Amino acid sequence: PLVLGIETSCDETGIGIVRGTRLLSNTIASSMDEHARYGGVVPEVAARAHLEELVPMIRAATSDAGIRLEDVDAIAVTYGPGLSGALMVGVGAAKALAIALGKPIYAVNHLVGHVGADVLQTEADPGTEPLEYPTIALLVSGGHTSLLLVRDLVSDVELLGETIDDAAGEAFDKVARILGLPYPGGPQIDRVAVGGDPAFIRFPRGLSHHKDMEHHRYDFSFSGLKTSVARWVEQTRDAGETVPLADVAASFREAVIDILLTKAVAACTDLGVPRLLLGGGVIANARLRELAVERTDAAGIALRIPPLSLCTDNGAMIAALGAQLIMAGHEPSTLVFGADSTLPASVIQG
Ligand code: ATP
Ligand code: MG
Ligand code: FE
Repeated sequence: PLVLGIETSCDETGIGIVRGTRLLSNTIASSMDEHARYGGVVPEVAARAHLEELVPMIRAATSDAGIRLEDVDAIAVTYGPGLSGALMVGVGAAKALAIALGKPIYAVNHLVGHVGADVLQTEADPGTEPLEYPTIALLVSGGHTSLLLVRDLVSDVELLGETIDDAAGEAFDKVARILGLPYPGGPQIDRVAVGGDPAFIRFPRGLSHHKDMEHHRYDFSFSGLKTSVARWVEQTRDAGETVPLADVAASFREAVIDILLTKAVAACTDLGVPRLLLGGGVIANARLRELAVERTDAAGIALRIPPLSLCTDNGAMIAALGAQLIMAGHEPSTLVFGADSTLPASVIQG
């Protein structure tokens, strides 16, 4: 089926068009720059940007794909989780399109969409085998840090754990700010960490103690780490010394990555699932990808990392999930669904 996907859960206005598992276009506008001076995504600003960008992005996507809007078989749209106002813009647009075109609509879960992106990779690179299930998925971005057990993409997704405070990307953004670096923090931390010693300071690994591993085995916590970096920097400055930026950045980054991978690999091992899929904007981190390869190799786990354009929020992954639902024979959503900012990971379709 030819499916147009709409993604507006955060700061990306993403429109993707797929035919089955084939990617035809993936256009994205981001309001990232507008949020820079606030140091994080401002919901109202993101929602207004979606309003401005949706129509131009839909035009660009259909033109890139070489199709007419009337040609699509279905519309897929993210209806949660994410920022309410931002989601509402995408949901409203998707419903309007579906009604105007007389086409079915599939309201889908953003997190499961990140997993669905994988099907497009197989088609793009014929060397890769389709992802087998069950698989563990680690999704890390500015808004989420979730560990999922995906038994079946369209029918069985379980949330194993998630962050109990900041998301991993948010931690990068906040620590960058502490170090006096601009937003978004991830790429900035990466830049200054070059040549730094990752073992210079042993920052705390949240929820990794013995007792935490009992009750929060698959949960994440980054706010203690952030506070610890802040305190270290403050004490160093108070002592009249210069902060060794490269070492602090490298040590912080190592702590985040260590926590993420330790828990993801533990989930694979505990549950006997030798497959790990990564997704989300933080996957742009080269050190994370490097260490992921090392750790999964050592544990005999097959690692999947979609290309970055499919890791950050995008419409193609939403279209791909919609197409998978259709191919599995799922009925379309009825128009009564609305944006659900706290949609649980286990609810795949609305
Ligand atoms: P959502 O949470 O809905 O997926 P988002 O817009 O917050 O959306 P993304 O756009 O996928 O998330 O990712 C942005 C986040 O990724 C930011 O927090 C940014 O700091 C982080 N990031 C980007 N590049 C890197 C990097 N090289 N290392 C670490 N973090 C990075
Ligand atoms: Mg983003
Ligand atoms: Fe996302």
